[in-house]
Amino acid sequence: VSPPALTVFGERESVVRSYCRVFPAVLASGRGCTITDEDGREYLDFFSGAGALNYGHNHDHLRRRVIEHLERSGLVHALDCYTPAKREFLRRFAAEVLEPRGLDHRVQFCGSTGTDAVEAALKLARKHTGRTTVVSFSGAYHGVSRGSLAATADRSLRRAAGVELGEVSFLPFPTGPAGEFPSVALLERMLADDLSGMDVPAAVILEVVQMEGGVYRFPDAELRRLRELCDRYRIVLIADEIQAGCGRTGPFFSFERAGVVPDLVTVSKSVSGLGLPMSILLIREGLDSWDVGDHPGTFRGNQLAFVAACAALDLWLDPEFRATARTGAETLREFWHEDPPPGAAVRCEGHAIAIDLTEVGGRATADAVVARCFERGLIVESTGRGKAVLKLLPALTTDRDALLRGSAIVRDAIRETTR
Ligand code: PMP
Repeated sequence: VSPPALTVFGERESVVRSYCRVFPAVLASGRGCTITDEDGREYLDFFSGAGALNYGHNHDHLRRRVIEHLERSGLVHALDCYTPAKREFLRRFAAEVLEPRGLDHRVQFCGSTGTDAVEAALKLARKHTGRTTVVSFSGAYHGVSRGSLAATADRSLRRAAGVELGEVSFLPFPTGPAGEFPSVALLERMLADDLSGMDVPAAVILEVVQMEGGVYRFPDAELRRLRELCDRYRIVLIADEIQAGCGRTGPFFSFERAGVVPDLVTVSKSVSGLGLPMSILLIREGLDSWDVGDHPGTFRGNQLAFVAACAALDLWLDPEFRATARTGAETLREFWHEDPPPGAAVRCEGHAIAIDLTEVGGRATADAVVARCFERGLIVESTGRGKAVLKLLPALTTDRDALLRGSAIVRDAIRETTR
């Protein structure tokens, strides 16, 4: 199966464009878990804007709030000045997300993208510690600009930098049974040995659940050991919750289950709902070592994103939303664990499902499945090592029927491709 030719408006857009090559439709509108293209064709969305749409497309409540705000106040572009919308978001995020979890962190608005938050985190860790190096993990994805790219593991993405990235060393992220790679023990040994050649880093950065890496969870006990090690050497522990956060893996933050508190937390993508841009760095008490104006930026306060983010918190606290999300995660887990495609490995973390096709044709199979799914009206992407992993990211609002329908399309496409 080959995707339809890219005839739309590619001529004037840089060749760097990527997703539109895989999903060559003009996406005109969206509602819930459905996208409709210009020709009226409907797609079930198991991609959710790369995890930015945990609340689905155009949720009525979020949309209404944004429209009301626009009608009442219009747009106030305010950089980081105080506005009612910003006050409301700060107040509610502290009261409804941070305080119930015992997190004493301050909130820094960083710009628009996840990359922006990671850059701020690395910069602050370096400023705070006076050190320069960083430790990251194999499989990690943290962003596209120089600092965040240096902490990103994918060699093909790193090559595009055109410069030596340096300053980051990588440990193996445990991808097998717990303990297969004693990464934290290895780090501990290197730090304790004056002759190891390893400087004490400013920070360790990790996704507790790696998403672009193929949906792998860092074992809880290892995470607690890492926390202790960071405490011992005054290393800043950064949790990147940009894709795994906001309920994607179940709890609001993916680190909650292990009971650790990271020093810095990056949040973006779904935090604002609707796909509006928002980028946040959470800074633990005592680490806010910036001087005033150290890290400016024109778009640090998108008013519509503040408004939508508050409406998203309404949903997050709504028992009906929570019940749908919980049942949805169970539905997905049952479907994929009870009858996994032969030869495929399945990993489930809430509404993030990896179907790893490495052993059944790898990328060729994954590409063919993605294309077949698209033909049948389902949007799903491939990721991970060798791009051999299908990653299902349906919105948390997706009902059971749609989850089963989409999952069946994927399963049938895998069966037909590997037959
Ligand atoms: N960190 C993680 C874990 C991500 O998944 C992403 C985006 N896929 C980023 C950082 C970068 O975010 P953005 O694309 O908004 O710059």
